[in-house]
Amino acid sequence: MSKFKVLITDHIAEEGLAILTSDPNIDVDVRAGIKNVDLKPIIGEYDAIITRSGTTVTADLIENPGKLKIIGRAGVGLDNVDIEAASRKGIIVMNAPTGNTLAATELTMAMILSAARKVPMANQSLKSGEWDRKKFMGIQLYSKVLGIVGLGRIGSNVAVRAKSFGMKVIAFDPYIKKSKADSLGVKLYDNLEQLLKEVDVITFHTPLTNETHNMITAKEISLMKNGVLIINCARGGIVNENDLYEAVKSGKVFAAGIDVFEEEPPINNKLLTLDNIFVTPHIGANTHEGQKGVAVIIAENVLNALYGKSYMNAVNIPFMKSQLSEDLQRYFELIEKMGKLAAQIIKGRVEEFHVKLVGKNFEEDVCERTFDTPFSYQPFTIAAIKGLLEVTQGETVSYISASYIAKDRNINVLESKFSTYDKFNDLIVLKIKTDKEERLIGGTVFNDGIGRVLFIDKFYLDVIPNGTFLYFNNHDRPGVIGKVGTILGNMGINIAGFELSRQEAGQAIAFVSVDNPITKDVLDEILRIDGMKDAKVIEL
Ligand code: NAD
Repeated sequence: MSKFKVLITDHIAEEGLAILTSDPNIDVDVRAGIKNVDLKPIIGEYDAIITRSGTTVTADLIENPGKLKIIGRAGVGLDNVDIEAASRKGIIVMNAPTGNTLAATELTMAMILSAARKVPMANQSLKSGEWDRKKFMGIQLYSKVLGIVGLGRIGSNVAVRAKSFGMKVIAFDPYIKKSKADSLGVKLYDNLEQLLKEVDVITFHTPLTNETHNMITAKEISLMKNGVLIINCARGGIVNENDLYEAVKSGKVFAAGIDVFEEEPPINNKLLTLDNIFVTPHIGANTHEGQKGVAVIIAENVLNALYGKSYMNAVNIPFMKSQLSEDLQRYFELIEKMGKLAAQIIKGRVEEFHVKLVGKNFEEDVCERTFDTPFSYQPFTIAAIKGLLEVTQGETVSYISASYIAKDRNINVLESKFSTYDKFNDLIVLKIKTDKEERLIGGTVFNDGIGRVLFIDKFYLDVIPNGTFLYFNNHDRPGVIGKVGTILGNMGINIAGFELSRQEAGQAIAFVSVDNPITKDVLDEILRIDGMKDAKVIEL
C-alpha cells in the first residue's frame, strides 16, 4: 500500500501531530503559514490537509484537487472553508466541534468577570503609576441575572459555572427542548425581548446565521436595564458593533467583553477605542488543552477516514447525493429547499417532522436501512432535515450531522410512502408539527426537470424555490398587492416573479421573487399595509 500524504498548513498541537507522524503509513509535511499561491500547485499531491483558521480553503484553491480527499479543520468554525466547493469536488470536510468547548466557556467567564470588575483597566492603571481605587468600583455577580443566548455546548457550560457564582441563569434558544434547560436549572424563555428586559449580564453562544446576525442592535439594547454587561465570545456580527459602541459610550452598557469581530483582524474598529470594552483577538479556543483537544480529534478522524474506517464530524458527505439517479437528485435538491422554506415560515419549536414520499419514484428504498441509527432515513428525509436545521444552525449542519442534531433536539422524524396523495401521483410532502401549529408543504419535479413548490397548507402555488422571496399572508381584499408592488418599486426592488394563491375564506398568500435585497425598513412598511397579516423575506 502506498503511503498517504497529509499536509498541515497551520500550527497544531504536538499531541495531534504525533498521532499522524507515528503512523508508518502516513507521510506528514508541516508547512505552517503556507500562502494559497504556494499551496495551490501542490495541494493535489496530498490525500488530506489539516488547517486551522490561517488557511482559507477557497473554490480556487481546490479547483484541481488531485488526490485530495479530506480537509480537516482543527477547530469548530468553518468560515474559512468553502464547503460547497469541497463537496462538489467530492472532498470530505471535517471539524472538531467539541475539542475547545471548555476553553471558550472559560474565556467567557473571564470576560464576564473582567467586565464586572474592570480587571484589565485596573491592571493598566496600576502599572502606569496610578493608585486609584475609586475608579474601579465594580459589580457583584452574586444574585444577578445572566441571560444566555444559545444554550448549546458552550452556553450550557457557562450556565453551570455562572450558577456556582450564585447567578440566576435564564436563556433564549428556540431550538432546544425545555427539558435540557430544566436539567441545567436554567429558565428557558420563548421570547428574546422578555429575556433582554431582565438581564444584568448577557452572553451569546449561537452560530452566526441570518437570524443571529445583528440580533442585538440599538433597539434591543434599549430594552435592557441600564448598566448591563454584554459579552460576545461566539461570532462577530451577532451584536451590532456600532450600536454596542454607542451604548457603552453613553453608559447604558456598563462594560462589554468581545473576543470576536465582524472583520478579523479588526481594522479601525471603534470597539477598540473605549476603555469599558475589553477585547481579545479571537482567543476563545486558545488554551493548551483546547488546542490539544481539537488537534487529537482531527488527527484521529482524518486517519480513520483515510483508512476507510468510520469517522465523526464530517460536515458533508458528497457521495450520498451522487448515488442517486439524476431524477432523484432533483427531488433531493427540491426537498432540501422545502426544508429550508419550512424553517423560515413555521412558528414555534419543531416537535414532529414528517416526510411523505408519493409515487413510483420512491417505491424502492434508495439506501439500505439500519433501523437503530438515524441513518435509517432515506436521503430525501436527511436532505429535508438538513434544509430545516441549517437555517438556524449554520453551515456546520451536514447530511451526516443533520439526523443527529434532529435527534438531539427531540424532533420526532417520520417517513412514509404513498402511491397517490390528494390529486397528485408524484409528490413530496413535509408535514411539520410545532408546539404552536401544523404546516404542510408539497412539491414535485415536472418533466422539465425543475422542482417546484406546489402547495403550502391549503394554498396551491407554482414556485421554483431558488433565490430571494417576499412571502406574505394577507386578507384577500383589493389594493394589497398593488401597495406591495408600489413599495418595492419605490425602493428600486425589481420583481422577477409573483405567485398568488387564495382561499374562499378570503385569505391569500403570495411569493414575490425579487432581484434585489429587501431591507428591514421595506419589510416593516409592507407589514403596515392594511390587510397584511404577515410578511417575511425568505432565502432559498
Ligand atoms: P452549539 O452548536 O453547541 O450551540 C449553539 C446553540 O445556539 C444551539 O443550541 C442552537 O440551538 C442555538 N441557536 C441557534 N440559533 C439561535 C438563535 N437564533 N437564537 C438563540 N439560540 C440559537 O455551538 P457551541 O459549540 O456552543 O458554539 C457556540 C458559538 O461559539 C459558535 O458560534 C462557535 O463558532 C463559537 N465559538 C467561538 C470560539 C472562540 O474562539 N471565540 C471558540 C469556540 C466556539
